[in-house]
Amino acid sequence: MANRVWILLQHRGTGLHPMSAEAIAAGVKLAALVGAEAEAILPCADPGSAAEEAAAFGVARVRVIQHEKLSDYTPGAFAGAISAAAAADAPGWIVLPHSYQSVDYMPRLAQLLDAALVPEVVSFRQDGEALIWTRPVFGGKLQSDVRVKGAGPIVVSVQSGAFPATRSDTTAPVEQLEVDATRIVPDREVLGVEEVAGEQVDLTQAPIIVAVGRGIGGTENMDKVEALAEALGAEIGASRPVIDSGWLPRDRQIGSSGQTVAPKLYLAVGISGAIQHLVGMKGSRCVVAINKDPSAPIFSISRYGIVGDLLEVLPALTEAVRAAKS
Ligand SMILES: Cc1cc2nc3c(=O)[nH]c(=O)nc-3n(C[C@H](O)[C@H](O)[C@H](O)COP(=O)(O)OP(=O)(O)OC[C@H]3O[C@@H](n4cnc5c(N)ncnc54)[C@H](O)[C@@H]3O)c2cc1C
Repeated sequence: MANRVWILLQHRGTGLHPMSAEAIAAGVKLAALVGAEAEAILPCADPGSAAEEAAAFGVARVRVIQHEKLSDYTPGAFAGAISAAAAADAPGWIVLPHSYQSVDYMPRLAQLLDAALVPEVVSFRQDGEALIWTRPVFGGKLQSDVRVKGAGPIVVSVQSGAFPATRSDTTAPVEQLEVDATRIVPDREVLGVEEVAGEQVDLTQAPIIVAVGRGIGGTENMDKVEALAEALGAEIGASRPVIDSGWLPRDRQIGSSGQTVAPKLYLAVGISGAIQHLVGMKGSRCVVAINKDPSAPIFSISRYGIVGDLLEVLPALTEAVRAAKS
């Protein structure tokens, strides 16, 4: 097996998706650990500025798999193109960002390469001859250490926020990587791409944020959050499931794919504390968490924790704030 770590890049518009730079950081670190070369691989129809951007993050080279059938993402075309290239080049490790796109096609890629698949890795280390991959399980309540048995390539996706992107002083060369075009088979028709609305609320300037998570249960309970936010003079933020459920607009999202905030006071209400949320708020000066589960990971970064049902705690806290202010 060739001594190479491949890092699969993801586009955002014409540029590099930010999670790709984090995947490069993980891949470069892995390459140093196992004594391999780190190569960034960009499947695309048009590299735009993404290849040049990736070249600045410490890889040995950037290799572009360029084909018109890669213009829209489809799992068939991407898995086909990458597996064809990997079969010829035999990288020992393939690192991807744990993005919605990667989650969609990496199981198929691993299957095509007869590779082991280790998703959502947050760290790794060498233990004798073995590589140990650490990944959260049970919603982040436990960390599991995984060792891959047998030979063959390993496909690994890395959690956003786990490997901070690091720029290099040098710029890597950009090359073309030719693949067998008959393996690039789009298996979906992309009818259109809808951009999410831009940010309208700037949470980065808010001194106090009441952030609400899936534990709120639905819009019918949002008035309790609004009452506390009003009593505190706070902005309302949210975890991703709240946004994905349509309970609050997207510009309220905090985390790796939302805004990064650092208020004086951050109240996390019904939020478990997944790493993608923590990276967006861990700079907060004082974190207060309300959660009914005493083992929720959010408590590990909180100065104050209230274990209880938020539907009872929120009104009581609102009353206490109002009383203290009057
Ligand atoms: C590529 C990618 C990007 C992502 N980006 C983001 C991001 O930007 N921001 C983000 O937040 N997430 C993001 N996520 C999702 C992230 O992994 C978690 O799924 C998410 O943060 C969990 O949100 P949550 O804590 O609200 O929900 P859950 O993990 O479901 O936690 C709900 C919590 O509420 C508690 N609870 C339930 N009922 C009550 C009650 N009555 N009283 C008190 N507590 C209660 C539960 O004990 C639990 O701890 C991303 C994921 C991926 C894969």
